Amino acid sequence: MATLSTSLHRPVPVEKQPALQEHSRLRTGDWWRKVPAWRNVSPSEFLDHRWQVRNSVTDPDKLAQLLSGVVTPSFVEDMRAGFRIAPMQLRVTPYVLGLIDWRDPSRDPLRKQFVPLASEHEPDHPMGTLDCLEEQRDARAPGLTHRYPDKVLFLALDVCPVYCRFCTRSYSIGSHAGGVDKLDFHPNAERWEEAFRYIRGNPQVEDVVVSGGDVYMLNHRLLRSIGEELLRIDHVRRIRFATKGIAVMPQKILSDEAWLGAVADTAEAGRAAGVHVCVHTHFNHPREITEISREAVDRLFQRGVTVRNQSVLLRGVNDDPDTMALLVRRLGYINVRPYYVYVHDMVPGVESLRTTLSKAIEVEKRVRGQTAGFNTPTFVCDAYGGGGKRALNSFETYDRRVGVAVYRSPVVDPGRAFFYFDPLRGLDEKVREAWRVPAKRRRMIDSTVERSGL
Ligand SMILES: *Cc1c(COP(=O)(O)O)cnc(C)c1O
Ligand code: SF4
Repeated sequence: MATLSTSLHRPVPVEKQPALQEHSRLRTGDWWRKVPAWRNVSPSEFLDHRWQVRNSVTDPDKLAQLLSGVVTPSFVEDMRAGFRIAPMQLRVTPYVLGLIDWRDPSRDPLRKQFVPLASEHEPDHPMGTLDCLEEQRDARAPGLTHRYPDKVLFLALDVCPVYCRFCTRSYSIGSHAGGVDKLDFHPNAERWEEAFRYIRGNPQVEDVVVSGGDVYMLNHRLLRSIGEELLRIDHVRRIRFATKGIAVMPQKILSDEAWLGAVADTAEAGRAAGVHVCVHTHFNHPREITEISREAVDRLFQRGVTVRNQSVLLRGVNDDPDTMALLVRRLGYINVRPYYVYVHDMVPGVESLRTTLSKAIEVEKRVRGQTAGFNTPTFVCDAYGGGGKRALNSFETYDRRVGVAVYRSPVVDPGRAFFYFDPLRGLDEKVREAWRVPAKRRRMIDSTVERSGL
């Protein structure tokens, strides 16, 4: 008896628990050679960011060509039809394409983020709008949003190394697609100067998010000049450069010395002046993190640059607790600090990727406690209507039956109600029908607001 109970309680050594070790097993080798067109691409070519840029795929026909013989003709047809209705154009790096499991592309979490399928399409939620966070309402200069008291969002440019189907800024990113007329935020000295002038003139602004688009696409001189300009402003204490690049083309950190130098030197100059200059990136799935990513992040780490991560919770990609937990632990393992997980914004054209709020709350519950608290992301909802980021659980009311959550945002606008709307797919048929009728829709929203006491 004694033996039995001891053996039951003896902890399994950590190295014998495969799930616990999985996060540290990063993909190595020449995995991209599985794509027939890249069978002869050598590691030195694949590790060169210029090769990655040159071979990025921006044309659905080109993608179909690249995959011919790998995927079925019906998949290609589905994909082509998907692109015809998508609000974002195609742009994806060989690095990402090589990580996709093309033997099972329908279920692949990376494919889902970049390549739409018509068969997956769901009608938009009736409350979806292009600029659902109303970033343009709070714009103080073209491409400069000032919503929170001490921080601003500066959209320096409008291009990225990849185009994510679910992008919140599909109102400006990339070129016109799916009938969407986009705002134009090209890098432009005059527009930038207007933004800097606003920041100079507003001493309450201590924190500048330099985003886009993606600062990966800025040449090193321009990036350096933004850093220098901001570091000249006494009241700026924190600067973040936002780039998805590290997640989709880590090669650039390893082979573009000038660009890495611009970031690292700015961080160093900032440090000397007591200003924290960081990089914010965007990994969504543990499979996006390879040995190449680890080396890239390590370059930044060795030069003292903090890298934080912001993910989007995506249905069928990372909305199960095990995947999210693995992502979070793997990020910690390579020294990227998980910062936020956003519930999916109400972006049109990608309804199939949205989850319910209750799903997001459940994932958060099961992720918290997996690892260090400082490496545990906060799950937030960037509230519909422009209330800013709200902790998921801080809603005033959440009516799961109609799928409406009401948030307050005392700092941004104390009197107003802000929202999250669950996707209609999981709701009762009667409720789903009610959402299609404007008057009934209004009533469901109003009555939820009323119950919240707002
Ligand atoms: C997200 C965001 C910021 C930065 O917010 P943090 O919570 O500090 O990361 C700043 N301005 C706008 C408009 C934002 O959307
Ligand atoms: S990299 Fe960021 S800004 Fe660019 S398309 Fe993706 S989510 Fe949007």
